[in-house]
Amino acid sequence: METVTAESPGRSGPAAFRTRLLARRPLAASAFELSLAKPAGFTFTPGQRVRVHHAEAARDYSIAAAPGEEIIRLCLRRVATGGLSARLAEIPLGAELVFTGPHGYFTFQASARPAVFAATGTGVAPFCAMAAAGVSGFILLHGVAAQEELFYGDLLREKAAAYVPCLSGGRAAAAGHYRGRVTDYLRAQLPAGAYDFYLCGRQEMIRDATLLADERFPGSLVFSEVFY
Ligand SMILES: Cc1cc2nc3c(=O)[nH]c(=O)nc-3n(C[C@H](O)[C@H](O)[C@H](O)COP(=O)(O)OP(=O)(O)OC[C@H]3O[C@@H](n4cnc5c(N)ncnc54)[C@H](O)[C@@H]3O)c2cc1C
Repeated sequence: METVTAESPGRSGPAAFRTRLLARRPLAASAFELSLAKPAGFTFTPGQRVRVHHAEAARDYSIAAAPGEEIIRLCLRRVATGGLSARLAEIPLGAELVFTGPHGYFTFQASARPAVFAATGTGVAPFCAMAAAGVSGFILLHGVAAQEELFYGDLLREKAAAYVPCLSGGRAAAAGHYRGRVTDYLRAQLPAGAYDFYLCGRQEMIRDATLLADERFPGSLVFSEVFY
């Protein structure tokens, strides 16, 4: 594609790429999805992220699409006081963006233990990439405040052995939804055993889930990606 090119691909460290914003769609009142043109030569492993540079800010975003897709999908929370996410919620379609990547090691490692994917909010993004790339049979816990924030539920439900929305907000949970936080579910509902835990999103959830894994699920491994 003419508009997207690798910059300085020969230097050390991840290359910088130019891309364009192709589409934006709301996922919920507080979250939206960006579709970026995939630059020639850009490859990644599901679970990795890019660092978007714009207006003198740089922030990390996990890729929510599979490597085989023609676009790069990012799933962002709109942080009201945020320097970059609020700008990315407004920039016009066709705008040029620069990113570096791929970054990170939060990738799926198949093992004999069942995988538990636990996300808060947009922390579900790397699990979407994994599911879209063919990973299946995992237990997926998605912690949100309101039902409308259960974005990508169709994809995740299709690939998961168990898809468990965890609603921490005030309203009663719908059938099939767990009323409480991801960590409440891990403490009270997940059967004893050894698992591979993949934790992504808020650092409080990751800290508490890691402690629970130590206490309740001996022999487990924990992989984590802290967003904020
Ligand atoms: C490895 C990694 C991967 C990430 N992947 C994603 C992703 O896929 N999707 C995504 O939405 N974000 C992701 N983030 C968070 C993202 O990089 C930014 O921090 C976020 O978009 C806020 O940037 P900002 O410039 O808008 O706000 P800032 O100006 O940086 O922060 C303003 C305030 O908002 C708080 N804040 C930051 N993030 C959030 C949040 N998500 N919810 C509520 N408050 C927040 C900050 O602590 C700060 O107090 C990731 C972060 C890391 C480190």
